[in-house]
Amino acid sequence: MTDDIYLDANATTPVLPAAAAAALHTMQSLYGNPSSTHAMGLQAQALMAGVREQATRWLDTGTGRLVFVSGATEAIQTAVLSALCAIRTQRDCGAAVGRLLVYGATEHKAVPESMAHWNQVLGLHLALHALPVDSDGRHDLAALAAVAGDAALVCTMAANNETGTISDLDGIERVLVQYAPHALWLVDCVQALGKLPLRLRERRIDYAAFSGHKLYAPKGIGLLYVHADAPFTPLMVGGGQEGASRSGTENLAGIAALGAVFDALQGGSSFRDDAALLRMRQALVDSLREAFPDVLFNTPFACALPTTINFSVPGRASKDLMDVFDAAGVRVSAGSACSAAKAAPSHVLLAMGQPEARAASAIRMSFGPATEEAWITQACARIRRCGQALASAGPTHLPTDHGSTLPTASGPAMEPGTGDPAETAALEVHDMPQFLAHHPDARLIDVREAGERLAGGPLQLYGQATHHAALSELAQHCGPWLARPQAPLVFVCRSGARSARAAAMLRRMGHTNAWHLPGGLALQARQAE
Ligand code: PLP
Repeated sequence: MTDDIYLDANATTPVLPAAAAAALHTMQSLYGNPSSTHAMGLQAQALMAGVREQATRWLDTGTGRLVFVSGATEAIQTAVLSALCAIRTQRDCGAAVGRLLVYGATEHKAVPESMAHWNQVLGLHLALHALPVDSDGRHDLAALAAVAGDAALVCTMAANNETGTISDLDGIERVLVQYAPHALWLVDCVQALGKLPLRLRERRIDYAAFSGHKLYAPKGIGLLYVHADAPFTPLMVGGGQEGASRSGTENLAGIAALGAVFDALQGGSSFRDDAALLRMRQALVDSLREAFPDVLFNTPFACALPTTINFSVPGRASKDLMDVFDAAGVRVSAGSACSAAKAAPSHVLLAMGQPEARAASAIRMSFGPATEEAWITQACARIRRCGQALASAGPTHLPTDHGSTLPTASGPAMEPGTGDPAETAALEVHDMPQFLAHHPDARLIDVREAGERLAGGPLQLYGQATHHAALSELAQHCGPWLARPQAPLVFVCRSGARSARAAAMLRRMGHTNAWHLPGGLALQARQAE
């Protein structure tokens, strides 16, 4: 059961085949520089103009304009810089401007980080103000009304990347029109593209950020919408591309791919309709309820995108759930992809008032509008299997980094002059076949927890069955291994973290031939088939 069931579309999506074909065609045949004046340059220019026209129509931008950028982080950056430069100019001219940079408390980090960065770089000394959200994750409009009069810039997302909560943009607009007619307004539309009508022509949004890779285009292409009356300062200057709004040779392949995505949106046939998306969400929700009877859903479905489900299982840490899902080939995340490496509970769920324990056990499942129903059916079967695996495995108690559940070690595990025992014990993927050829007696030891092993089924690597010794129970297995401290042991796990700990522990206890595979099964599986 190693095929991926990818349920992490809010982190990124695969590239639509038509988009990949358009990018390839552009790279191979339409590779002129759009700034060149010869025929190939003109063809490239025409391609770009065509895609801009498609995007303009789909997003209904009215008199506003669209700038091709590398992605939403750049779009947000440019919008914040533009707004802050304008605020500085107004202030220098003695005009009364707000003192607050207001952002929704559940925004993607790109927003408050950009605000803080440019505020500091430009020496503005404005105050950042996190706008609270209610327990559904929607902006508190009364709180917005209370601060709007002092706001210079307001940033609110159209839909949340972790929970799928859809913002009340009409409500926010009403408050801004009434209390903050001069404040600039940036809307992060990343998760809304192709999923919600944005009505840019009608709304008084000054800037809107979009990212291609969240909707089946490749990474490295995005769009910034700028209202006709909104101030603008380029983030990058140089060759004057994009009408001097964004210098740098354009990512023509990405633009062509984005064009194919807009074609697909317009054509309608590649993307499922709302009824199908709701059916798919319901199927996933039903399977989660069956797998984890006490599951708690973290956003009311009525105000969330149908393609995002955020849930917690009481008593189970996100990391443990992710390990089991990953073992079953179901790729989910514990929050936003950029925070995935951080152990902290989700700032989004905390801002919604969820207790820390619930936020620390959250899992996000997200799929895209091009997902097939058959795929979701398979996902549901695996989710049920994960539930059964966890139920029969029981709780796990991992040893601490001090090795408290292992016999304390003495003895020289490492050669003189070496540092971290885990580093010493790393075996690179490409070295494995040779290592096994030289050490036919090497034992491959899977240190994942029982739930993961049950969810994923028996693990074969390099044609060998692996032995199982969960990290939480390693102490029980150490005796025979330490009796033969030169017999080669190779530890494996999901990501390489637990296997590194296992090898380091064994080496500290005097085993001289304990190894681990950095990168874990994620890197091994394809090599080892
Ligand atoms: N805003 C939201 C809501 C996102 O989900 C993301 C990506 O995770 C970003 C901004 C950043 O987008 P990009 O990867 O295009 O820079």
